[in-house]
Amino acid sequence: MRATTLLNTVLGIKFAIVKGVEFTDTGLVCDVEPTTTIARCGGCFRPVSQVHDTRKARHWRHLDLAGMSLTLRYAPRRVNCTRCGVTTELVPWAEPMSWFTHAFEQTVGYLAKEASKTVVSTMMRVAWSTVGAIVGRVVGRLLPGDQLNGLTHIGVDELSYRKHHKYVTIVTDHVTGRVVWAREGKNADTLKAFFADLGSERSARLEAVTIDRSQAYISAVSESAKNATIIFDRFHVQRLVQDALDEVRRAEVRAVVEDPQGRRELKHTRFALLKNPWNLTAIEETKLTDLAKTNATLYRAYLMKESFAAILDRRQPHVVRSKLREWTSWALHSGLKPFAKVARTVEKHLDGIVAYVATGLSNARSEGTNGKIRTITRRSYGLHSAQALIALIRLCCSGLILKPFQATLRFHQT
Ligand SMILES: [Zn+2]
Repeated sequence: MRATTLLNTVLGIKFAIVKGVEFTDTGLVCDVEPTTTIARCGGCFRPVSQVHDTRKARHWRHLDLAGMSLTLRYAPRRVNCTRCGVTTELVPWAEPMSWFTHAFEQTVGYLAKEASKTVVSTMMRVAWSTVGAIVGRVVGRLLPGDQLNGLTHIGVDELSYRKHHKYVTIVTDHVTGRVVWAREGKNADTLKAFFADLGSERSARLEAVTIDRSQAYISAVSESAKNATIIFDRFHVQRLVQDALDEVRRAEVRAVVEDPQGRRELKHTRFALLKNPWNLTAIEETKLTDLAKTNATLYRAYLMKESFAAILDRRQPHVVRSKLREWTSWALHSGLKPFAKVARTVEKHLDGIVAYVATGLSNARSEGTNGKIRTITRRSYGLHSAQALIALIRLCCSGLILKPFQATLRFHQT
């Protein structure tokens, strides 16, 4: 059997044929040609009749063959497209701007979804920044551009990355738990762009939108989704209370100047204070019991945080409303400024917070998605653009099912 015949059979690249083969320092190089008779424009993908000359040979990384690097080599033709002018032809095995074959990119996409950054770069021998670009192309190819049909309950979140200097706004479908839209930025204009993509008809069908308390989002939602209830995401609200507690703790630490031992002990209560009670270790539990005796102020703040969470766990909206009123009154008179501040915010947005309970939206699901997104963000260090981060989020959280490329045996006559 000839080497080219063998390669044609095992590589199984659609609409391409291996014409020659050569071993170089880097591995195996296959000379390939498209089998399609009519050339296509690399700009608009339409068939073109006028073919100019050929360009210099280009190389595309394909999947390794038995551990050896495999490259496709072909000199693309210059074509004259009626729409785009003189461009380079589209090759059937790769996207116009890519140096990798579809098969290679699909496998990178699969790995980027399932494995760590190091695994992807090491296994595929590509820089992590290149992975970002590849994922962008895979998502563009496989995910429908518009995933906004049938939305009724959505969540809007802002995601900070690059040490909180940059933001991405993410829209999640609460029913499916999928990310359906994402864009760089976190202001009203960013969200208005979402409603523009959604269109007025589909916007009108939205029943509930969960958001954080940012005024920018509130105005964008009430302007565009007239029939939707605005709901304040439980986790955003709860985070305010946790932040207030941490502020009280820091003030208490600062206040204990003359007692280094006591100061250290207070400092180390942070995690015990912020955790859910059922997740506490025995040591943390002891720390809290001691705190009740040694620092009444901080312990009171802790109880306020806990009771706030307990109120939001309840099911009946009217109970939640009255309990929240009691809580805000307690917080306002607690003598703890950070809590008084939260209490005023809660009062101002009471309807939105109670609406959360009324709709019974499962926060476990959206928190699951948020957790997943946070993990992706941590993995994204080294991806330098918001575009790459968004591509990775869409790859992992849009319900896309990817498999590593598998060649199917095809027999060629050469
Ligand atoms: Zn064209």
